[in-house]
Amino acid sequence: MIDCIVVGAGPGGIVCTKELLEHGISNTVCLEQSDRIGGVFASGYDNLLLTSSAVFSMFSDFWIGDGKDHHFWTKDEAVDYWSRYADHYGVKQHVRLSSRVAKATIGEDGVWKIDLESGEVLRSRRLVLAAGNNRIPRYPDWHQSLTGIQILHSRDYRNANAFQGKRVLVVGGGESGSDIALEVAKVAARSWVSLRRSTGWIVPRKREGRAADISTHRGIWDLPREFGVPLSKLVLKLERARMDPVFDVLATLNERVRNPKGLWGTYGTKTLALPQAVAYHGCTVVGDIVEVREGGRFLRTSDGVELDHVDAVVFCTGYVNRVPFMPEELQSCDPRSLYKHMFHTRLRDSLAFIGWARPGFGSQFPIMEMQSRLCGGVFSGKLALPSSAEMERVANLDSAMFLEQFEDTARNIRSLVDYHRFMNGLARVIGCHPPLLKCFFANPRLWLQLMYGPTQATQFRLVGPGKKPELAREILNKLPISTFNHIVKAGLRGRVKYGLKALLPRVIEGS
Ligand SMILES: Cc1cc2nc3c(=O)[nH]c(=O)nc-3n(C[C@H](O)[C@H](O)[C@H](O)COP(=O)(O)OP(=O)(O)OC[C@H]3O[C@@H](n4cnc5c(N)ncnc54)[C@H](O)[C@@H]3O)c2cc1C
Repeated sequence: MIDCIVVGAGPGGIVCTKELLEHGISNTVCLEQSDRIGGVFASGYDNLLLTSSAVFSMFSDFWIGDGKDHHFWTKDEAVDYWSRYADHYGVKQHVRLSSRVAKATIGEDGVWKIDLESGEVLRSRRLVLAAGNNRIPRYPDWHQSLTGIQILHSRDYRNANAFQGKRVLVVGGGESGSDIALEVAKVAARSWVSLRRSTGWIVPRKREGRAADISTHRGIWDLPREFGVPLSKLVLKLERARMDPVFDVLATLNERVRNPKGLWGTYGTKTLALPQAVAYHGCTVVGDIVEVREGGRFLRTSDGVELDHVDAVVFCTGYVNRVPFMPEELQSCDPRSLYKHMFHTRLRDSLAFIGWARPGFGSQFPIMEMQSRLCGGVFSGKLALPSSAEMERVANLDSAMFLEQFEDTARNIRSLVDYHRFMNGLARVIGCHPPLLKCFFANPRLWLQLMYGPTQATQFRLVGPGKKPELAREILNKLPISTFNHIVKAGLRGRVKYGLKALLPRVIEGS
């Protein structure tokens, strides 16, 4: 019997296997259906460039290499980093490539039976699902009427070669949708992007040569979420003042975000690709498709625009949240019903989901690592889960908090969480929140880093279970700190506005 089986060797499966090993669960096997590690990034589109910077994307205890402070990885660089990380922490010996899980069932004795496609059967007391939820394409209903034109989902898109000289509609304007819209707009005869509502809040990857996500720091994100409205107004004013056609389009698109929490009530779209497509490559943003004629050759939008002689539609409409090899009742498990988006309240410590929490801003990788640390702690018996009733209460509280913040967006994207609130909540459960007050007096340089450097994973290695204080300090010392820019100034103004409530950084967020 194996102690733990991890399904998937994407970043989530790799970091979880590493944490399980570090927690002493050495009889761990990580099953991967493809012939290489890296998940989405091992197979994504040719020009895939990450939207979170390397310092934000890195795992807490494995340095990215000097001189990469403001760098954004290509998909190959990301896979290379995880590969070196897996080598360094002895993960590779535990990964079995080309091992596809066909079926997972749990017996009355609580043992998981894992049937591989090869016919082999494995048994384990614990299962980690790190199989990703970017597998099964989601389409709007009208896609079935597209019988006379070419259709493609972003999952299968590699490059724009097939769209040279064509008339192409891209549906959806998230990060992949924006990147694809720009590539298509550059070569197509005519291109459109259809958006149901907004495209999230667009921010550039870089500002003045520096990674923009350095500003995802406690100096601003520790403020109450209603501050998102004045913050949004300020940012819009500054973007307009640039008098730059790309930033004008960006501001026009961002003005469509009508959430009471402003930019903090939606997700970030961290690429200028869509504004560039519109400003320089003739792409037009249109509304939702409401009518399909002649098998898709003619389309009409909710804002009355007629798209004529359409050759192709590229759907960047996300994925269905389903794991087909799991038992029926777990196949479409709602992440919001899980304790910390990872533990099932009935199956408790026999099953963990890794990667089912997607942050509005920030990065998914530090969240996967924190979840993996919690998983390692619980599976090794060093941390105890609360009672099932308490797990359910906490899941409901977290769910209510994120539904209040993100409204309809959180109803549609069931994995959507607020990065800072979620990470702080996990840190409280693990006991590894950085000691801000102590640092303020004892080590002001470190405090400055914790407050005004990116809130990435290493901050959570200073104290508590799994702490690596020397390595953490060494890495944190190398990380960039925000300049005294408009975000830092807005944060200081916010602290004055909210008075004592915000004067000291709030250590505990969420439930
Ligand atoms: C195009 C794109 C770009 C993104 N860019 C960023 C970014 O810049 N920053 C960021 O923070 N997040 C980003 N994300 C979001 C998120 O970080 C990624 O989706 C990430 O890959 C999720 O990691 P994962 O390990 O959970 O899943 P995946 O990467 O999907 O890996 C899951 C693995 O499980 C394997 N698997 C699935 N089913 C089985 C089975 N039955 N048997 C065996 N193995 C199986 C798959 O082959 C795969 O290797 C991006 C997502 C996409 C789609």
